[in-house]
Amino acid sequence: MTADAGRPASEPTSDAAVVELSGVAKTFGAGPDSTTALTGIDLAVRSREFVSLIGPSGCGKSTLLRLVADLIAPTTGEVRVNGKTARQARLDRDYGMVFQAPVLMDWRTVATNIELPLEIMGYDKAERKRRSADLLRLVELEGFAERHPWQLSGGMQQRVAIARAIAFDPKILLMDEPFGALDEMTRERMNVEVMRIWQETGTTVLFVTHSIPEAVFLSSRVVVMSARPGRISRVIDVDLPRPRTIETRESEAYFHLVTEVREALRQREGQPVGPDDRDPTSTDRIRAEGYA
Ligand code: ADP
Repeated sequence: MTADAGRPASEPTSDAAVVELSGVAKTFGAGPDSTTALTGIDLAVRSREFVSLIGPSGCGKSTLLRLVADLIAPTTGEVRVNGKTARQARLDRDYGMVFQAPVLMDWRTVATNIELPLEIMGYDKAERKRRSADLLRLVELEGFAERHPWQLSGGMQQRVAIARAIAFDPKILLMDEPFGALDEMTRERMNVEVMRIWQETGTTVLFVTHSIPEAVFLSSRVVVMSARPGRISRVIDVDLPRPRTIETRESEAYFHLVTEVREALRQREGQPVGPDDRDPTSTDRIRAEGYA
């Protein structure tokens, strides 16, 4: 039985890997001061999947995302995006990126922030306006087109950043802790929002998060990473039915998956979860790492 067998019909994926990392390692610097951020990374993300990366701080989640985005190059191994080199995919603008801080331009309006990548890509003005109006509807910010970023809340700004990232219909959306700076309530609303956008646009998402509930709620698969050096320790299929709603978070299946991810994070390299991992000290350690 393949991992796809239990996938709900509302989540069509294709076997084609849109992101593929094979034998990837990344070391920063050289000599005694070098840091091996990632080692032995093999990961294939299929079209229309929503894959989250979760792990302790410094385990290389952002590094992995930056490798896919061709912001940095691997030390060894290969990164393929849409069947091309990561560099070619960047040049072809195959993906949009969303970071923890929305990085909007305060002197531009909400609409012209969203239109910025379209301007750079040479879209004419009428097409830019049409697209930004559509995207504002998609992120439920109609009526805010002429406002400036500083007139919006943090959650609204992040929705503008998401609209900008998908303005040119990228096949892949790379998101690096996009809701990390938001309060819990806003974050939960944004989770529902981003899932709706993902379903409506049919894009493939690679998502970095520190939050176990967020990873389980959103994902088709959760990739659990361990630190020093960063490697993939487990990949957990999330077969919760879609569409997922607020009620999903109250289901027993959801609770079990949250526990499964939490235990995978506790697991030390090569060791099963034992009594030590269930004691309060290790729970405190998980909390200290900031997992909700
Ligand atoms: P995470 O996103 O999981 O918190 P990062 O990918 O940011 O982890 O970092 C992984 C490791 O690589 C950390 O030890 C970090 O200090 C190191 N690192 C990341 N970027 C650089 C860099 N440009 N130069 C040197 N070390 C780096």
